[in-house]
Amino acid sequence: MKSKLHNLQSPKGMGDILPPDQLWWEKIRKEVQYAADRYHFGRIDTPLLERAEVFEKSLGEATDIVEKQMFVFKSRSGDRMVLRPEATAPIVRSYVQHGLSHLGLPLKLFYIGQMFRKEQPQAGRFRQFHQAGFEIISSDDDPIYDAQVIITIYRLLERLGVKDISLHINSIGCRICRPNYRKKLVEYYKDATAKLCKDCQRRLRENPLRLLDCKNDICQEYKSGAPIILNGVCSYCSKHLKSVLEYLEDSKVDYHLDNYLVRGLDYYNKTVFEFFTDAVNKEGNKFNFAIASGGRYDYLLEMFGARQSSGTGGAIGIERVIEVMKASGKVPSSRKKSGVFFISVGETAKKKSLSLIESLRNSGIDIVESLGKDSLAAQLRAADKEGSDYALIFGQKEVFEESIIIRDLKSGTQEVAPLKKLVNELKKRLK
Ligand SMILES: [Zn+2]
Ligand SMILES: [Zn+2]
Repeated sequence: MKSKLHNLQSPKGMGDILPPDQLWWEKIRKEVQYAADRYHFGRIDTPLLERAEVFEKSLGEATDIVEKQMFVFKSRSGDRMVLRPEATAPIVRSYVQHGLSHLGLPLKLFYIGQMFRKEQPQAGRFRQFHQAGFEIISSDDDPIYDAQVIITIYRLLERLGVKDISLHINSIGCRICRPNYRKKLVEYYKDATAKLCKDCQRRLRENPLRLLDCKNDICQEYKSGAPIILNGVCSYCSKHLKSVLEYLEDSKVDYHLDNYLVRGLDYYNKTVFEFFTDAVNKEGNKFNFAIASGGRYDYLLEMFGARQSSGTGGAIGIERVIEVMKASGKVPSSRKKSGVFFISVGETAKKKSLSLIESLRNSGIDIVESLGKDSLAAQLRAADKEGSDYALIFGQKEVFEESIIIRDLKSGTQEVAPLKKLVNELKKRLK
């Protein structure tokens, strides 16, 4: 019996967004749309499901997502399908599939929606989570695009009320300069191999840059002496990063050059960035997660066969940003309560209620009701709970006389109004 009830719970790490929480989500959606309008990003929606290949090659076989975090299953026709773990690869898939370069480059796109990763749920980490992201696909890798994406996200976080925003930025080079750095890194870690965590021992063979990403204490210690990629990047990559930083300075966006910042996906090159906040939660601790992140992904476009295309983008983690917003103690203002509560008493009135309410709504009057409750007292209580200023009371007598009672719920006074004049009477009061 117990296990059956358990089966009727939401899947592990996948939450419901309940009505009281929707205020925060509305605020996010509104501000994401505002940012998109302001900086001219057009919306794109891709399916929640993609073929596994879309991610396997592009994110890299030796990344956490592809290795262990994807929800993969076989369709009846034998295709391997995945619940999307991120949105950039599907967007590039769509860009190539539909030849979207015809819309003109640079193409600025934004999205908002859920992603899925099979992770151990913990603070700020869920199996279903939401991201809102901004992408710029262009014909070259002009650093101004990296800066534009970062500034868009920075301003969005500011408008969402996130305090003490801290932007970490780095360059992870290109395919010309990165192999050298990789060699140096392997060299540095070689003698310590036995002391590193199991994952890092494997990473050292498959994807050594990701050693810098490990959260294990011992691995962290070794990281502090590791060679710095910026010392080894080619002059093109270092010039590229310098330009991005200059654009940020010109736009008064503070940043912190983070020498060991790498991102967990293979498709990034040159610019990578993460946003944190130095604000604290209710227990007085700092949030131990990035609230937004992104980077340049020129090779991703290449992998999908897009010619002469470059891309850069980033996304906010919505659940994480909401957690930060909640800790700030400022609750977004709720939508205004309705002024008019409709009450019907008796069967005859109830029968006529829906059509009457519909005609009032058509006249622009916002009506709340709880017609399923029959007693006058219960409906008045509901009106009180709703915070309505006025109640309309419609009973058998009123049906017969084609009138209705308008009760002022604040003062307790009431008047009878003919139905014909009701809209005008209400509009007068609601002004
Ligand atoms: Zn380079
Ligand atoms: Zn490690």
